[in-house]
Amino acid sequence: MTGIDAAPRRAYRALHARHLDSLLRDRAGFAEPERRLARAIAAVFPFRTNDYVVDELIDWSAVPDDPIYRLTFPQPGMLSAADAARVQRLLDGGAPADRVQSAVRQIRGRLNPHPAGQQDENEPELDGRRLPGLQHKYAETLLVFPRPGQTCHAYCTYCFRWPQFVGDQELKMATDDVGGMCGYLAAHPEVTNVLITGGDALIMTAAVLRRYLEPLLSLATIESVRLGTKALSYWPYRVLTDPDADELLALLARVVASGRQLAVMAHFSHPRELQTEAVRQALARLAGTGAVIRAQAPLIRGVNDDPAVWAGMWRELTRLSVVPYYMFVERDTGPQGYFAVPLARAYEIYRDAYSRVSGLARTVRGPVMSATPGKVCVDGVAELAGERVFVLRMLQARDPALVGRPFFAGFDPAAIWLTDLKPAFGQADLLPRAVPG
Ligand SMILES: *Cc1c(COP(=O)(O)O)cnc(C)c1O
Repeated sequence: MTGIDAAPRRAYRALHARHLDSLLRDRAGFAEPERRLARAIAAVFPFRTNDYVVDELIDWSAVPDDPIYRLTFPQPGMLSAADAARVQRLLDGGAPADRVQSAVRQIRGRLNPHPAGQQDENEPELDGRRLPGLQHKYAETLLVFPRPGQTCHAYCTYCFRWPQFVGDQELKMATDDVGGMCGYLAAHPEVTNVLITGGDALIMTAAVLRRYLEPLLSLATIESVRLGTKALSYWPYRVLTDPDADELLALLARVVASGRQLAVMAHFSHPRELQTEAVRQALARLAGTGAVIRAQAPLIRGVNDDPAVWAGMWRELTRLSVVPYYMFVERDTGPQGYFAVPLARAYEIYRDAYSRVSGLARTVRGPVMSATPGKVCVDGVAELAGERVFVLRMLQARDPALVGRPFFAGFDPAAIWLTDLKPAFGQADLLPRAVPG
C-alpha cells in the first residue's frame, strides 16, 4: 500500500500526569487551586493525552466547557469533596509515595472497578483452567484483552475500563495466551466472532496484533473479527503515518480476504472528532482495506448530552460511510456519579436525535446499559394500565431465552442504572421471563 501524500508524518508523543500542570497553566490559564485539584484527580483516575488531542481537538478558548477538554482532562466533581481533599492533603504534604498509593487504592476500591461481574462471571475456563484476559458472556462473541493492548492514545475521563490503566495489577484484565484463546475457540464452535479490545486494539503494533489475528484465520467457526479502538479519534495517524501503518492495513485486508468481516468498532464521542483532515483520511484508508467501520460511544454529561450533538455525529458518520452502532449509558463504575445522564433524559436525547436522521443512520441502538444480566435498551416511556413505565428490552442476555423480550420498570426520572429500577405493575422481578409460544 502506498503512503498518504497529504498527511505530514507526525510522531506520537504521549502527555502524562507530569505534563498536566503545565498544560493547565499554559493552555487553560488555570490558577494553582484548580491545578491542585486536577493533580489530585489524576492521582486516582488515569490521565494521558497527546499533541493531536491538545492541538487539534480541544478548543482552549472554550475551556472549561469545551466538550473534548471535558472528555480528556480531569474534571472537578469526578472525586467526592472528601476524597479530593484527602488526596490533596497527602500530595501537598509530600507524603511518601506508598501512603499516597494506599489512600488512592482505597478510593479506587470503593468505585466499583469491575462492574457487571466481569471478572467473576464472564471469565471462561478451558479444561478446568481459568483464562484471565478473556470474557465470554454472550454465546456468539468472545472478548479478548491482549496484554500489549491495555492502553490508549489518550484516556477518556469517564472511561469504564479505567482500572486497566491505573497500574494496580490485581484490577487488570489481560492475556498473552494466544494458545489458550485458540483452544477455547476450538472447544466452543458457538463463538462466531472475536472482539479484540482493551485498552485499544490499535495501540498494538501490527506485528503484535498479527499474533492475535492470524491464528483466528485458521478457525473455520470464526466469521468476524472486531477491533475496539479510539485511535481514529485520538490518533488517526495510527493508520496514516505511524511506521507500521501500511503493515497494519495489509493485516486488516488479509482478514477481509480470508472471507471474514473485519469490523472496526470505533469510539466517537463528539462530531468534533470527525472534523480534522487526518481523521477523514484515516477513515478512507481503513475503508480501503474492506473493513466495516462502526461507531459507538456512551452518553456523557457535559460532553455529548445534547440531541443536536448526536444527530450531527450520526449524520457525519453516515456521510463518511461509518455505521452508527450503539449509544451506551455511562456504566456504574468510577466517576459515574459525575458523568451520568438519567435514563429518562438519555432516552429523550436518543429519540430526539434519532428523529432527525435518515434511515441510513438508524442502525444505531440505545440508550443501552451493559449490565450484569445483559445489554438492556431503554425503548421508551409509556403509560400502561394507569402506570408510567420504562419499556425495556434485552439486546443481549447471558440467558439467550431473554433476548428481544420487552419488560417494564416503574418510571423514575432520577434512575441512572438498571439497579435503580423497580419492577412495574406490582411484579416481583424486574427482568423479563421467557413466555412460551
Ligand atoms: C457488548 C458486549 C459484546 C458484544 O455485543 P454485540 O451486541 O454483539 O455488539 C460482547 N461481550 C460483552 C461482554 C459485551 O459487553
